Amino acid sequence: MLTRVDLRGESASNLTRTRLAAVLPRAELDVPAALAAVRPVCEDVRRRGAEAVREHTIRFDGVDLPSTLVPGEALRAALAQVDPAVTAALREAARRARLVHEAQLPRQTVTSVAAGSSVTERYVPVARAGVYVPGGLVAYPSSVVMNVIPAQVAGVGQIAVASPPQAESGGLPHTAILAACALLGITEVHAVGGAQAIAMLGYGTRDCAPADVVTGPGNVYVAAAKRLLRGTVGTDAEAGPTEIAIVADHTADPVFVAADLIAQAEHDPLAACLLITTDDGLAGRVEAELIRQVATARHSDRIQAALDGQSACVLVADIDAALAVADAWAPEHLEIQAERAAELAGRVRNAGAIFVGPYAPVSLGDYLAGSNHVLPTGGTARHSGGLSALTFLRGIHVVDCTAAALAEVAPHIDALGGAEDLAAHVQAVRARVPAAHWPAGAGAPPAGAGAEPEVGPAPVVSAVSEVRTEAAAWSGARIADPPPLRADLAGREPYGAPQLDVAIRLNTNENPYPPSSDLVSAITQAAATAATGLNRYPDRDAIELRAELAAYLGHGLTGDQVWAANGSNEIIQQLFQAFGGPGRSALGFEPSYSMHPIISQTTVTRWVSAARDDDFGIDRDRAVSTVRELQPDLVFLTSPNNPTGTALPLAVIEAVCDVAPGMVVVDEAYSEFARDRHGSALALLARFPRLVVVRTMSKAFALAGARVGYLAADPAVIRALLVVRLPYHLSAVTQAVARAALAHSAELLAAVSIICAERDELVAWLRGRGLAVADSDANFVLFGTFGDRRSVWRQLLDQGVLIREVGPPAWLRVSIGTPQEMAAFRTALDAAAPGAAPALRAASRES
Ligand code: PMP
Repeated sequence: MLTRVDLRGESASNLTRTRLAAVLPRAELDVPAALAAVRPVCEDVRRRGAEAVREHTIRFDGVDLPSTLVPGEALRAALAQVDPAVTAALREAARRARLVHEAQLPRQTVTSVAAGSSVTERYVPVARAGVYVPGGLVAYPSSVVMNVIPAQVAGVGQIAVASPPQAESGGLPHTAILAACALLGITEVHAVGGAQAIAMLGYGTRDCAPADVVTGPGNVYVAAAKRLLRGTVGTDAEAGPTEIAIVADHTADPVFVAADLIAQAEHDPLAACLLITTDDGLAGRVEAELIRQVATARHSDRIQAALDGQSACVLVADIDAALAVADAWAPEHLEIQAERAAELAGRVRNAGAIFVGPYAPVSLGDYLAGSNHVLPTGGTARHSGGLSALTFLRGIHVVDCTAAALAEVAPHIDALGGAEDLAAHVQAVRARVPAAHWPAGAGAPPAGAGAEPEVGPAPVVSAVSEVRTEAAAWSGARIADPPPLRADLAGREPYGAPQLDVAIRLNTNENPYPPSSDLVSAITQAAATAATGLNRYPDRDAIELRAELAAYLGHGLTGDQVWAANGSNEIIQQLFQAFGGPGRSALGFEPSYSMHPIISQTTVTRWVSAARDDDFGIDRDRAVSTVRELQPDLVFLTSPNNPTGTALPLAVIEAVCDVAPGMVVVDEAYSEFARDRHGSALALLARFPRLVVVRTMSKAFALAGARVGYLAADPAVIRALLVVRLPYHLSAVTQAVARAALAHSAELLAAVSIICAERDELVAWLRGRGLAVADSDANFVLFGTFGDRRSVWRQLLDQGVLIREVGPPAWLRVSIGTPQEMAAFRTALDAAAPGAAPALRAASRES
C-alpha cells in the first residue's frame, strides 16, 4: 500500500532538503492556478461588496441570502441542538487551548539602552479578526476553537466567523460550527464560504466590517484568496493538504503507527503520510496493520487514495538519518514513536507540532491537547509556526529619550545621516540638541546635504559623563525620565469621557437637575457643622450614614449590611482588592461598564469577557454555562446596564448566584431609573451570602460631585472589605453631605420620575424616526445604528450638543437632560445626516 523509499545507504549528513526534494512525496497545492479563478471573485467583492457576495453564494452554494449575518437566535438554537457530549468536549478543548495560548502571551519588555534612553516593546492586539471555518468534506467545530481562542486570548476586540452556508439547512452554516461559536461567545457569524468569504472578511461589506487579520484553513481557493489579500490584511500561514510523518524504531507499536497514518489520511485524499523507520521489520508489521485497519475504516476510500498516493514508507540507516529526513520534509505533524522519544523531539528543527511517545497521537492535538491544530503544511514549517496568540498581536516599539540621552548619540546620528545623504535627518536632531551640547570631542559635520561627514573621535568616558551632566542641566526642565511605572500599566491612557466646554452635556449620565435651594441649604448647614470638627479624623466606619443608607434601601437591611465609599468606583475597587488579585479572575458580560475591566487590570485580576446577546441581555442558560466553565472568583452583572440601558431579569441573577463559585456583584448604579422598581437584586441578598449589590448617589441623588457610592451585602463581606479600605477614606464632609441628600430622598426621587418620563418619550421619538433603540431602564438611551457614528456625534457637537460615542460600534449614547436640553438634542439630531446603515453588532465596552 505504501510506496517504499529505501535510503538505508545514505548517512544523515547526506539527507538534505535539496537531495530529498524529488524523493519524498507530497501533494502540491497549486495556488497559482487557483489564483486565476479567485481573482475576479475577490475583485468583485472588493468593488460591489454585499451584492457580489450574494451572487457568488447563489452560484457556488445554491442559496440566496439577503444578508450574510447569521441571526443570534440561530446560534443559540444550534447550541441547544448539539449533542451535550460534543458541547462538553468543546468546552474542555477550549479550556485547555485557553491555558496554552495564555501562556504564549509575550511580556512587555522595557530595555534601557543608556541612561535616559529606553525602548519598550508593547504587544497590541489587532482590532478585528476574521476567522474562516470550512464546511467541506467534514465540518470542524474544533477549528472554531483553534482560531477563536488565540484571538480572544490576544485580546482582539471583534471577532467575526465565516463558514459556508448549507443549502439543506436553509443557508445556515453547519450546526456544530454555529454551536461552537455560540459556546465561545462569538455573536458575529456570516454564512459565506470560499474565496468570497475571505474577500468579505478582508475588504468588508455592508454586513461585515473589514478585518485586520484573517485566519483559518480551507481549500486551495481559500488559500489563493488569502494570498491575494495579503498586504490588505494579515493572514496566517497558507494551509495545504494535511500531513504526518512518524519517526519510528523497533520499539514502536505497529497498531498505533498504522492507526495514526490512517487518521491523517482520513482528512483528505490528498493527505500525505510518511513513515520514517530504522526497522524493516516494523515497516512490514505496519503494512499488515494498514491493510487490516483500512478494510474496516469508515472513510476507506479517501484513506486508500491518500496512502496509495502521496504517502510512503522511508527506510533509513539509523535514527539520525530518520531525523534528517523529517527535518528535510518539515511535516505539519511529526510523531516520534521510538526509544528516547523526548530527547529526539528536542533535536527536531522543522515541524508544525511534535507528538512525543506512544500516547500523544495527532488526534489528541487535533482536539484536546490544548496545542493549536492550525499548523504549517507543505514544508512551510521550515519558516513558519502554527496559529497562536501572536498571530493576532503586533509588537510596537515605544521609544523614550531625554534631551541628555539624545545629545549623547547626536554625533552618531549626524554621522549616519551624513553617510546616507539625509540632511533633514541630521537637522531634526540638531534642532533639538545644538552641537554646543554634544559630548566633548564630537565633531559637527559641515552643513549642507551630501557633504562628506566628519566623524569625530569617539569621546572618552569621562568626557561623556561631564557633557551628560551639562546637557541634562540644559534640558532637565523640559524632558524627564519616565517614572518606573509597572510594566503591565505602561502605555495605558487614563479613563475619562472628554470634558468639553459645550452648552448641552449629555455624555456622562449625570442627573440634569442641580440640588434644590432647600437641599443646597441643608447641605451647606451639614458641611458647616462638619467643618467645625475637621481637625479630627471622620468616623472611620461611617456608622450613621450606613444606617441611613440601609433604611433608604429597605428590604429589612441594617447598617452592618451596608458599606460606603467615594463613589461606587471605589466600592468596586475595594471588591477587587478583597476578592480578586493575582491568580484570580473576574467575568463580565460586555458591552458593559468599562471601569470593571480597568479596575480588574489595575488590581492584577485576570478579566474575562463574555458577550451579551444581540438584544444586550444575558441568556440565563448561557450565563450559567459560562460561569460553570470559567469558574471566576468574581462575576459582574450590571443592571440596568451601562452603556445599553438594559435591565436583567432577577431570574438570571439568581441562576448565576446558584452556580458562581465566588462573589457575584450586581452593579445597580441606575436602579432607581428602572421601570420595574421591584427588580432589584436586593431582594436576593437574604438567600445568597456572596451576592453584593452596588449602588451610587451619583445618579438618582444628583450627587455625582460629592462622590458617594455604597453596597449592600452580608456583614461578613463588609468585614472582609474593612481589611482593604484605607482608614478614614470617607471624609466627614462627604458623610455629612450624603446624609443631607438622603434626608431629601422624596424630592430627589420625584425628579427621577421626571427623567424617566423624558426618557420614555425620547425612546418613542427615536423609534418613530426608524432608529434602533435599546430598551432603557436607566437615565440614558443607546440608539443607532449609524454607518459612521463618529460623523453623527461630531455633527451634534457642532450644534452644541455633546453625547457619547460609546458601546457597540454603530451606536451612540445620550444621557437624559432637562426637557429644554432634550428638545435641543432632537433638533440637532434631525439636522444631522445620520446616514443610517446596518450596524456591526460586535461587543465593546462603555468607555
Ligand atoms: N457603575 C456603573 C454601571 C456606572 O455607569 C458608573 C458611572 N458611570 C459607576 C458605577 C460609577 O459611579 P460613581 O463612582 O460615580 O458612583
